[in-house]
Amino acid sequence: MRAVLTEATLRSATIAAWMAEVGAAMRAQRNQLTQLDAAIGDGDHGTNMVRGFDAVEKALAGRGEAAPGQVLITCGKTLVSTVGGASGPLWGSALRRAGRSLGDADEIDGAQLAGALAAALAAVQELGAAEVGDKTIVDALAPAVAALRTALDEGGPLAHALSAAAAAAEEGARATIPLQARKGRASYLGERSVGHRDPGATSTALIVSALARAVARDE
Ligand code: ADP
Ligand code: MG
Repeated sequence: MRAVLTEATLRSATIAAWMAEVGAAMRAQRNQLTQLDAAIGDGDHGTNMVRGFDAVEKALAGRGEAAPGQVLITCGKTLVSTVGGASGPLWGSALRRAGRSLGDADEIDGAQLAGALAAALAAVQELGAAEVGDKTIVDALAPAVAALRTALDEGGPLAHALSAAAAAAEEGARATIPLQARKGRASYLGERSVGHRDPGATSTALIVSALARAVARDE
């Protein structure tokens, strides 16, 4: 019998589908994100994310044949230029760095996608200097990167590995509730930030689960 290679590959259309899923998720969760940010920040996180990802969808419309990495760079630049809050530069740098890690390849596989997500995490940590446990984006993104790597190493379909990553991100976001914020606006509250779920970790979990859905539909 002939061995059949079933390694999934992603193209630009999947990145665009991911961004459309993110936009829809942000619009659906806008009020929840805003309420979370009202409790420990300034109440603009839902608005920031909706504005940013609406602009991303517009920027991608008509970008046709660009490679996945180039598409992600466009997404990142758009977030940086449209979102005023901390989350704009952080996720903007993350997507730009993810895009740069992919170069000009027309198709990417699971290992490259995992590398891109790791590059995104590195960009967030370089810019924001947050570690796991500081009650930020990192608390959702770091476990997602780790879970994706582990699941891919174990073998199995990329969509399955991404749903493990999404579950890890959601668990990481939930785990921010008892933490005291050590970075960003919420850190100004000191102990009063304890007992609230971090808005940025929450939207990060939405971004990872949107990726899992976009890829699952592709396979
Ligand atoms: P702002 O705080 O400027 O109003 P947003 O409300 O859009 O911006 O985003 C707030 C979120 O940004 C926080 O919930 C947190 O997850 C994330 N954040 C803030 N500072 C950092 C940082 N240094 N590193 C990682 N994430 C951060
Ligand atoms: Mg805010």
